[in-house]
Amino acid sequence: MTNASRAVLVVEDEPQLRRVLRTLLELANFRVVEADSAERGLLEARTHKPDLLIVDLGLPDRDGIEVITGVRSWSPVPIIVLSARSAESDKVAALEAGADDYITKPFNMDELLARVRAVSRRAGDVSDIARVRVGGHTVDLARHLVMGPAGEVELTPIEWEILEVLVRNAGKLVSQSQLLTEAGGAAYLRDSNSLRVHMTHLRHKLEPDPARPRHLRTEPGMGYRFSA
Ligand code: CA
Repeated sequence: MTNASRAVLVVEDEPQLRRVLRTLLELANFRVVEADSAERGLLEARTHKPDLLIVDLGLPDRDGIEVITGVRSWSPVPIIVLSARSAESDKVAALEAGADDYITKPFNMDELLARVRAVSRRAGDVSDIARVRVGGHTVDLARHLVMGPAGEVELTPIEWEILEVLVRNAGKLVSQSQLLTEAGGAAYLRDSNSLRVHMTHLRHKLEPDPARPRHLRTEPGMGYRFSA
């Protein structure tokens, strides 16, 4: 399916921002439906069955969280929150309500489009993306081989599991609970602390500067995101 047939519902009460989003999304070949309140957003979601929602949290009638909860009760459609609220607790609440990603205002247009494209894309099979570049390393997911500037790098089984889940969801936010569920199951990964330890190990093995990760990024309060 091409982008031309994809519709994005923008639930946002600031007319200027709606206009900016419309221009941006239409240039990227999305069809745009607008709603200026939570009530309207819920209605348009049911009427238009959009392929993606962008939802502001500070809406004049109700909280945007209610739009997320309402839509999630009947649809798995990807939802990106676009909000001025930057507290971790707001992000966690939005994700728990069923949002897929969270962007803080003011936002960068390229970043927004990258997130829109990422959540619109279905998770690929690892076989589709057998090789990825992570900094100076070539990661061969099919053969479980990492080659770096200094030769082969060994990853543990759990590190492979984590890396595969992140790469399969490239560009997308992967929540801690999703990683804990999908990467090897409870046998290896008991909690977010052990996840953090494994992430640290992975960064030391793959990132050019592990203290400032560019590829295996932490999204505070939310989870992790891989970008090539
Ligand atoms: Ca608002």
